[in-house]
Amino acid sequence: MITKIIAEAEIQKAKQYIEDADRIVIVTHITPDGDAIGSSLGLYHFLLEMGKQANVIVPNDIPEFLRWMKGANDIIVHEKNHPIAEETIAAAELIFCMDFNVLKRIEKVAPAVEQSKAKKVMIDHHLSPGIFCNVTMSYPQISSTSEMVFRFICRMGFFEYLNKSCAECIYTGMMTDTGSFTYNSNKAEIYFIIGELIKKGINKDKIYALVYNTVSIDRLKLQGYAIYEKMKIYPEYRTSLITLSQQELDKFNFQRGDTEGFVNIPLSSNDIVFSAFIKEDKGYVKISLRSKGDFSCNQFAMDNFNGGGHLNASGGEYFGSFENAIKHFEKVLPKYKELLLKNN
Ligand code: 5GP
Ligand code: MN
Repeated sequence: MITKIIAEAEIQKAKQYIEDADRIVIVTHITPDGDAIGSSLGLYHFLLEMGKQANVIVPNDIPEFLRWMKGANDIIVHEKNHPIAEETIAAAELIFCMDFNVLKRIEKVAPAVEQSKAKKVMIDHHLSPGIFCNVTMSYPQISSTSEMVFRFICRMGFFEYLNKSCAECIYTGMMTDTGSFTYNSNKAEIYFIIGELIKKGINKDKIYALVYNTVSIDRLKLQGYAIYEKMKIYPEYRTSLITLSQQELDKFNFQRGDTEGFVNIPLSSNDIVFSAFIKEDKGYVKISLRSKGDFSCNQFAMDNFNGGGHLNASGGEYFGSFENAIKHFEKVLPKYKELLLKNN
């Protein structure tokens, strides 16, 4: 048995909503990652197994390395299929908000969700949840939203409806949000859950290969370039910064998802406790942050880059030029010197 982390009242209320609804929509955050898609499709397969009508809606497309997941082709991408996405949300009786804490994170999908009369349930593990759902299951101490889906299904007493496809999706989200169980993952129950997922028929080694051993040669070269040419070290702050402009990305035929994981690489050095990655995107500049120990990336993202996330993994945006984003980073970094040196 696993510990009851999610409050019983939340489980029972959400269970009742599922029982009362036929048309269920699942939404997740912009530029979805493995946990966003894993938790959403995991819940989707479970609901289908229960005989419900369910749809997953995402603001923009899912990355290539998650396309193999069962149900990925059924996902409605708002950016590409705007009318269908809006109609589906309008017809929903119940909406699950997966792996995000504030409506801003679903960008152009937000107005439809906000205006919908459907009951709303948040399942998420980010800090500081907004109040826009009837049930807000927000547990930052749980390392992935996908793990929360497992816990939610079990606690409703519906373990029999957790099929192999559902188990594969849950595992994918648990694996990707913990760097393949290398951080935020020192809890025995994670491995108990993995055992249960294996009993449902998943092949965890195959899932690892499907997610991680699929990189293109262009991507490998981009990674080499990013580390060798574009990684700046600030030894006095034990910090590293990788920057890639749109022009540089174009040179390597950048495909969405290609820079996934780059920000983690500098932390493999003992000399680095804080790693940042600034990437020029269309219309804005994206920053990804990772840290070791107690240094709060989340605070840094909130203070300086309109963002948020978790203690050791967070991100944000800069609304200005790519060059100014880098200058801004370098300007604010010294303020954190004491905190950076105190940790590790
Ligand atoms: P990544 O660096 O992989 O894009 O994001 C890491 C984590 O940071 C995500 O799981 C998410 O929690 C958070 N995050 C990334 N970008 C943003 C952002 O723009 N705003 C907020 N609030 N959180 C973000
Ligand atoms: Mn997550």
